[in-house]
Amino acid sequence: MILILEPNTDVNSQEYQHLLAAIAEIKNVHISTHEVKGDQQVLAEIYLLGDTAALQIEDMRSLPCVNRVVRISEEYRILGRHKDDTRPTSFDYNGVHFSQKNLNIFAGLCAVDINEHVEQMMAALKQQGQVCTRMGAYKPRTSPYSFQGHGSKCLPYVFDLAGEYGIKVIAMEITHESHIVEIHQALTQTGNATGVMLQIGTRNTQNFELLKNVGRQQEFPVLLKRGFGITLEESLNAAEYLASEGNSKVVFGLRGMKTNMGDPHRNFVDFSHVPVVKRLTRMPVCIDPSHSVGSRDRAPDSILDVMHITAQGIIAGANMVLADFHPQPTKALVDGPQALQMHELEYFLKDIALVRAAYEKRVELVNKK
Ligand code: PEP
Ligand code: MN
Repeated sequence: MILILEPNTDVNSQEYQHLLAAIAEIKNVHISTHEVKGDQQVLAEIYLLGDTAALQIEDMRSLPCVNRVVRISEEYRILGRHKDDTRPTSFDYNGVHFSQKNLNIFAGLCAVDINEHVEQMMAALKQQGQVCTRMGAYKPRTSPYSFQGHGSKCLPYVFDLAGEYGIKVIAMEITHESHIVEIHQALTQTGNATGVMLQIGTRNTQNFELLKNVGRQQEFPVLLKRGFGITLEESLNAAEYLASEGNSKVVFGLRGMKTNMGDPHRNFVDFSHVPVVKRLTRMPVCIDPSHSVGSRDRAPDSILDVMHITAQGIIAGANMVLADFHPQPTKALVDGPQALQMHELEYFLKDIALVRAAYEKRVELVNKK
């Protein structure tokens, strides 16, 4: 059971002490406290764990400082959606709203290579009114001999250029907790020219120590990719690791599953899970069509498979799209074959807008019934 306290409850107040004393009287229940920092207010939540079945919601609501009470199941305590759960399904970061109700596009470079490509990408995004992108600095590669990303070296110019072109959030994968410090330092040096959403890649979905470290910081929101060879439940539990350590600003990313059942696509596209994740949890859901499809193959109707699959995710209510673009895909150091080109950005955004409008009409239709 979660007790959601009045906004900005002072933990030093007498009322709060009375609340703790009342909880201490309940047998076989222990507590864990959790703080949700919003732009305007701090919301404290007290999790009552253990023998809570006999507790009455009304009784708990009448305790001092308590604003709302939610009875939760064991699974996904913090990020899950529970019965009569009115907790938010959204968060804000650096002026961008992330929600189960809206859509943000993150088109960008899979891996940063040279300054000019970063600038061309960001200029194209600005021209299209985009404020988010993806830029890989730390790349987890199958072979130790492949390009591993420029790491912290490229951060200063990437962040400076982002500031120059009005980019507010960059999705950037990290593979080690030291990368959080490097990103923080580079952002500080550029006067916080932009913001970063830390991405945990599919190879690290169950790297629990990394998850705990990323969860302990609340400066950056997190995009957690689904593990490519584990169940959805296991991946959602991985997301809960982030929240249980204190960071519930989490977007859940679908990127396809590793199996040759999906051939000839690089991964078996799993965007049918968009509504499932939205039903089970409060996380906005991201789709990554580039890593799902892995090529620029085109159907006889002239539409790229990447675009068909993007549409499948959007029509099902996806809230974020992460897509690889590159000014010169043949020169890309990582994942060139799946990258879209600069001149395709406008078309990409238009196609998405079309499908998103259809999704919104579908929601309207079902609610009119
Ligand atoms: C990526 O987004 O660049 C990436 C490596 O994705 P994934 O972890 O899904 O393979
Ligand atoms: Mn990639």
